[in-house]
Amino acid sequence: MGKINKSAAHIIIFLVFLSIFFVGTLTAEQLAIKAGFILDTKTGQLLKDKTIIIKDNQIFEITDSIPPNTKIIDLSDSYLLPGLIDMHTHIIGNLSKDYSSNLFQSPHRSTIGGVVNAKKTLMAGFTSVRNVGAPNFMDVALRNAINADEVPGPRMFVSGPSIGITGGHCDKNELNHEYEQSSDGIADGPWEVRKMVRLNAKYGVDLIKFCATGGVFSKGTKVGLRQYTLEEMKAMVDEAHTRGIKIAAHAHGTEGIEYAIRAGVDSIEHASFLDIKTAKLAKKYGVTLVMDIYNTEYTLSQGEINGIPEENLKKDLETGERQRQSFSLAVKHGVNLVYGTDSGVYPHGDNAKQFSRMATYGMSPLEAIQSATIGASKLLGLSEKVGQISPGFYADIIAVDDNPLDHLETLEKVTFVMKNGQVFKNPN
Ligand SMILES: [Zn+2]
Repeated sequence: MGKINKSAAHIIIFLVFLSIFFVGTLTAEQLAIKAGFILDTKTGQLLKDKTIIIKDNQIFEITDSIPPNTKIIDLSDSYLLPGLIDMHTHIIGNLSKDYSSNLFQSPHRSTIGGVVNAKKTLMAGFTSVRNVGAPNFMDVALRNAINADEVPGPRMFVSGPSIGITGGHCDKNELNHEYEQSSDGIADGPWEVRKMVRLNAKYGVDLIKFCATGGVFSKGTKVGLRQYTLEEMKAMVDEAHTRGIKIAAHAHGTEGIEYAIRAGVDSIEHASFLDIKTAKLAKKYGVTLVMDIYNTEYTLSQGEINGIPEENLKKDLETGERQRQSFSLAVKHGVNLVYGTDSGVYPHGDNAKQFSRMATYGMSPLEAIQSATIGASKLLGLSEKVGQISPGFYADIIAVDDNPLDHLETLEKVTFVMKNGQVFKNPN
């Protein structure tokens, strides 16, 4: 090819690229939300009459004017917040209210239950959740289906099967030994627990969950009693952290809380029998507490109707009120607390009912909202992507009618839900 022909070819290629660029710019999907108020979850300030520009799945800018060729969503009568985050859910599960129906239901049916519950959770304004415990990697499958846009649901971070001792809270103990009933994640001893973490990682979990103590809704376990030795807990933490995976410990009793903190876990779930010593220890180790202080109201009001065994109701009575006092203690001592509700214990979609209870037991309304936004985002390791309405963050945006700083209950009636730039609920 001659010199002139060569440069002519370069010019043509340049023009083709230029035209692709301009056509691309003109047709790029651009969306604007006219917002009455935007809550800045970092400062608690309300920004008035702003417009949020969204490109693809991200917030592009917050501005005073609307650019031309932009699709507009008018929420100028609403208060906008970043999508909420629930750090302790059990989305997979049966749809029957009968307490023991899980004994007779296939895992396939449970996964379908998860599809239904995921949609309810998203429609309630929770655009991200951590799912802590699901047999058969059902939560991994649901997460993947949501991420592939096959079914609606929150952005899920999942643990797969909870790891637990033989006969412990994370094991199934209802049937006699002839049935050889056992849960997926049962492992005893340092090497077995290491292998279980490796197995969960192999099948695609985002985090590890294990049971450090007994629990309310298991048969024959004592809520306050420690399960696992320090050696076993340390082995799991080492195995998880080596892979860059976070690890959450279900722990009600004081000793179990202490052992899990000393072993190096990232979060303590429930933390019911926290005392001053363990509160200070959690703060020293930078451990986050996830305390589900709403669901006991539901359990005690519905218990007998739904056939919850007397043993479990009794344990809930012994734990619920004590947990609320521990929550107040944790707030008072400045321990890091994030929003987690144990959804599934109460009906899915009621996730926001805990906000007002957190205020009753010592948090300011802003702190309660921060626990489900910027606080939770840190524990997820996504503090630059979720929990704020700010440029560069995922376009996870919800709207409510009232100022949530005055009325936290307004968060129970979310009117608009956008996740990842996609609108799932819109009042207009
Ligand atoms: Zn739970």
